[in-house]
Amino acid sequence: VNSDPQVVIAGGGPTGVTAAILLGQYGIRTLILDRFQDVYPQPRAVHLDDEVCRILGRIGVADEFAGISIPGAGLRVLSPEHGVLAQFDRPGTAGRNGYPQANMFDQPELERLLRRRLKATPHVTFRGGVEVTQVTTGTDGQPVVTLIDRNSGGIETITTDFLLGCDGANSVVRTSLGATMKNRGFEQRWLVVDIAADRQLDHWGGVHQVCGSTRAATYMQIGPGRYRWEFPLHDGETAGQFQTLASLAELIRPWEADTTGFELVRVTEYTFKAQLADRWRDDRVFLLGDAAHLTPPFIGQGLGAGLRDAANLTWKLAGVIDGTLAESVLDTYESERRPHAAETIGLAVTMGRAMTGGGRTGDRIRRVLVPLLSHAPHLRKQITDGASPRLMRGPLVLTSRRPRSLAGKLCPNPEVEPGRLLDTVTEGRFAVVTTGAAHAFPGAVAVAGNPVLTAWLRAGRASVAVVRPDGTVYSAGDQLIVPPELRDAR
Ligand SMILES: Cc1cc2nc3c(=O)[nH]c(=O)nc-3n(C[C@H](O)[C@H](O)[C@H](O)COP(=O)(O)OP(=O)(O)OC[C@H]3O[C@@H](n4cnc5c(N)ncnc54)[C@H](O)[C@@H]3O)c2cc1C
Repeated sequence: VNSDPQVVIAGGGPTGVTAAILLGQYGIRTLILDRFQDVYPQPRAVHLDDEVCRILGRIGVADEFAGISIPGAGLRVLSPEHGVLAQFDRPGTAGRNGYPQANMFDQPELERLLRRRLKATPHVTFRGGVEVTQVTTGTDGQPVVTLIDRNSGGIETITTDFLLGCDGANSVVRTSLGATMKNRGFEQRWLVVDIAADRQLDHWGGVHQVCGSTRAATYMQIGPGRYRWEFPLHDGETAGQFQTLASLAELIRPWEADTTGFELVRVTEYTFKAQLADRWRDDRVFLLGDAAHLTPPFIGQGLGAGLRDAANLTWKLAGVIDGTLAESVLDTYESERRPHAAETIGLAVTMGRAMTGGGRTGDRIRRVLVPLLSHAPHLRKQITDGASPRLMRGPLVLTSRRPRSLAGKLCPNPEVEPGRLLDTVTEGRFAVVTTGAAHAFPGAVAVAGNPVLTAWLRAGRASVAVVRPDGTVYSAGDQLIVPPELRDAR
């Protein structure tokens, strides 16, 4: 039995582990390496949207995730004096993607859940306590990973067919490729405060965003008895000055005057950055997650972007390895994901600036403009609808000039069989969704006549859509179009 890994993943954070599970589900022999045995124990990300929940569904942890997360109630925009300027509500129930639109959680809990799933996934091996130090190219073009065993100090090399660099913001894989992070014009130091309380705090259950040029703030509940506050740090201030409840009392007072029964889980400084790597791929090596992009967390999309990378790349990689997809599909990873990540980062930066920029004039403008804008139907829909940007036209996205074209968007994820969502039924394969009689192509799943999907197709003026394994619409119209990159389907 061949036990050489077909894919090596550097980094066992949420991005790397999700990619490993997806590859394992496709039967790809995958080795995942991390410098630590256990997950990073400190709170970081706290929000995932419903599109990203679909990826958790595909790796079989959506129910468990529901057990460790709470639906978010939306966004409330507040003045510096905490007057409500605007409120955007989100239903706490499952929507178009099969999950609540906003989900609040604690990252270490999610990561532990992912690691448990990883252990139960065939074809995947996890190795902790090993530090990747370098990536080179072997004589036959294969990536060669050099690593140090942190216990023994021993150095070894592993040769593989493909390498995924999921090794976070300070990625060694990125450096080895000669790729660099490019700034997109945003950098702010924020204080991030995680608190466990012995009681339920009585506040509106969404994200509270206090706008202000001097001391903006973000507050939200992230689980039973768990709360997160974030405040921009002024020049000269450090997180070291805020390590007691007494020193935080002034900041927290607008919400809670009484901090008895509060326990500090973590108080840390985090520099909110907007960065994109200038290259995401070098031949057989790919960058994913924070190794490829960093976003200020204003719209809570950092961790989600890494999971989207994993979902976008893994089915293509698995198809190329098993010979069912042409190798050219690998080009579409960066061409699809990079603009999407750039647009998401741009939105987060705009949000950040709109909430904190402009000095006192900015404060005055916000007071007048935010309530007005919040009633503009287009903007309101954008904020409450929550759909991420569609993927751009390319070999695997056949957008047309027709209005309301569905290609590049996510297909909805309704129940298509009793108790089973579309994504569960497709199991990582292509799907052909039709209004009328079922038809498909080899390797694809036929889904016909589902009322939700029929209404969706009709709204997009289509009777048939080809949906990719990651849920993105390849083509939609009156004819079934099979991607020419699919080898055994023609
Ligand atoms: C304070 C804070 C708040 C945030 N809030 C949000 C939010 O609300 N929503 C959101 O979506 N995102 C948020 N984020 C971002 C989110 O935490 C990251 O985007 C996410 O952790 C990225 O996952 P990753 O797997 O790509 O990288 P990481 O989580 O950084 O994982 C990288 C892994 O690689 C390993 N590694 C690194 N180098 C090596 C090496 N040389 N050899 C071997 N292993 C290595 C590390 O040990 C680690 O396990 C926040 C981040 C912070 C810090």
